[in-house]
Amino acid sequence: MSRFWSPIVSALQPYVPGEQPKLVNLVKLNTNENPYGPSPRALAAMAAELNDSLRLYPDPESVRLREAIAEFFADIRIEQVFVGNGSDEVLAHAFLALLKKDRPILFPDITYSFYPVYCGLYGIDYRTVPLDEHFALRIADYARPNGGIIFPNPNAPTGRLLPRSEIAALLEANPDSVVVIDEAYIDFGGESAVPLIKHHANLLVVQTLSKSRSLAGLRVGFAIGQPELIEALNRVKNSFNSYPLDRLAIAGATAAIEDREWFDQTRQAVMRSRAFLCAELETLGFEVLPSAANFVFARHPRHDAQRLAHRLRERGIIVRHFRQPRIEQFLRITVGTDEQCATLIAALKEIVSA
Ligand SMILES: *Cc1c(COP(=O)(O)O)cnc(C)c1O
Repeated sequence: MSRFWSPIVSALQPYVPGEQPKLVNLVKLNTNENPYGPSPRALAAMAAELNDSLRLYPDPESVRLREAIAEFFADIRIEQVFVGNGSDEVLAHAFLALLKKDRPILFPDITYSFYPVYCGLYGIDYRTVPLDEHFALRIADYARPNGGIIFPNPNAPTGRLLPRSEIAALLEANPDSVVVIDEAYIDFGGESAVPLIKHHANLLVVQTLSKSRSLAGLRVGFAIGQPELIEALNRVKNSFNSYPLDRLAIAGATAAIEDREWFDQTRQAVMRSRAFLCAELETLGFEVLPSAANFVFARHPRHDAQRLAHRLRERGIIVRHFRQPRIEQFLRITVGTDEQCATLIAALKEIVSA
């Protein structure tokens, strides 16, 4: 606290990102980064952009990138695409533009911990809706007056997926609320809600290039919805930062979206490793929630999660542990390469049998 701060700053409870350790040689399975590199075509496109044109401002509308995204999804037009500096920024704009209403918004009790932070920043009232005893989201629990609904699908940090039919039912039950589906992990085995946009004016789908396109360091995310919703996001964006994406980001992200082959190869590899990792964890006695993401959420009936995380860290392996009611006995483990998964399993085998 300082007497120089605006009052709102003292009241903020900022998000705490997963650790980005300075040490090298760690097996880093704590922030759901992709273990494979970005598309070589994306890297080449960025290298080609590294020239004198950097003295000029980038395209404030990111037209090339929005065209590539519209092209990637069948039946989507450029007017239905919004891009931002990471999906966190896109989400922030969505909270202010579409979720600050008279009634409280709804999201699950166990979910992406940035949502309550945005509510704090923008003064948005919210209620949390408990997941069921298996950590599944029941859409019937959202049948109550609300100012909007938001959750990740698959959910984070549980990894559990809601089928598209359930999302359609939720949209129909809430025709006057915006429903934001945060699809940060949808490419690892889920069905995107994007095809529902055509028939649902209240749906905004948010995606990121950080996970399935391995570009967490570039900071690019996007939203898709009907032009009415996109215009609201643009009004906020152009009242905040007209140039959220730089020239390198536009070039790299466009090439990454266009490189479907690399995208498919790497996400298939992650899904194969996930199956291996889940099976091995179960063999060691872990209970593993069904995951459609590039991480798994697991607990061991006889070993405290925080202690396990500590023991792993001593061996140079970092995973994520949340000190939060209902999930304090779980570890969230990012799916790494097969080699990283094998290193993790070998370490856990020693720890669990000691
Ligand atoms: C990683 C993540 C994001 C943020 O992604 P960025 O595009 O890197 O900002 C958003 N939502 C969820 C649920 C995530 O896990």
